Amino acid sequence: MHPELLLMFAFVVNFCKIEKVPCTVTSIHRTAEQDRRLGAKSKTHQEYRAFDMSLNGWAGDKIIKLRRAVENEFKHVGAISATSRSSRPIVIHDIGHGMHAHFQIRPNL
Ligand SMILES: [Zn+2]
Repeated sequence: MHPELLLMFAFVVNFCKIEKVPCTVTSIHRTAEQDRRLGAKSKTHQEYRAFDMSLNGWAGDKIIKLRRAVENEFKHVGAISATSRSSRPIVIHDIGHGMHAHFQIRPNL
């Protein structure tokens, strides 16, 4: 794991501890075949630049707080969104397995 992603990982684990919310990492590295089956939109997991966390059991205000905290702390290393062209260190979505957060860093850091 890249040191910048490891810092983000530690930050998120600490957030969970402080906020008393479940801390369930659901994905770190994936192969191209696994990404294809999941319909992944980017290669960030293949390139060891991302991890995912389940947000099942999280209250809405905790999700908003997490997003703001990660954006504030990691804007300078977040992967650049293909659609908005802005830094997005955290993406919160449900692609069919419940709400989860995808954390990502840009390449070549
Ligand atoms: Zn992900």
